[in-house]
Amino acid sequence: MKSNKALVKVMRPPEPEKESIAPLVREMLTKLGEDPTREGLERTPQRVDQAMRFLTSGYQADIKKLVNGALYEVKYDEMVVVKDIEFFSMCEHHMLPFFGKIHVAYLPRHKVIGLSKIPRIVDAFARRLQIQERLTQDVAQTIQDVLEPVGVGVICEARHFCMMMRGVEKQHSGAMTSAMLGAFRDRKSTRDEFLSLVNH
Ligand SMILES: [Zn+2]
Repeated sequence: MKSNKALVKVMRPPEPEKESIAPLVREMLTKLGEDPTREGLERTPQRVDQAMRFLTSGYQADIKKLVNGALYEVKYDEMVVVKDIEFFSMCEHHMLPFFGKIHVAYLPRHKVIGLSKIPRIVDAFARRLQIQERLTQDVAQTIQDVLEPVGVGVICEARHFCMMMRGVEKQHSGAMTSAMLGAFRDRKSTRDEFLSLVNH
């Protein structure tokens, strides 16, 4: 995939305090043939409002703030790999969950980042309406922008509810995407090292 700075920066966070979507959820329940006043559904619109706000809270994430104080100047030029980062996101086509694991690697140039920040970067982009390809690219590009490393590699393995729930034969289908920047794109040996570390 090609690197594209604009991709990450263009996202406009919505105003944090907005109208509740609960009335819309109530209307949706009615249109689906449900009775939103029955006991089990009474508080559902408010719960959906809360849940959706959490699941899209990545729009408000401030990457600069998030990595602030966790960048370290070091003389370390071996590959850093953080693998099996669990994530949960929502596909923008059906607003159904997709989830899986992301593996991140980079070759430092002169900076490293606190390891715990990488899963937080993943969450910042997963908690939005996404497609798997863009999520993968967003994580790679952000690490590229923040650390300016020699290269970044990101692999994402995911299963999509919109595929799993809508067709019996697709229940086990998974999708894999990757974004390779710098040395990870240009050097096969670097890419292979990453792949072998991830597959262990
Ligand atoms: Zn979908």
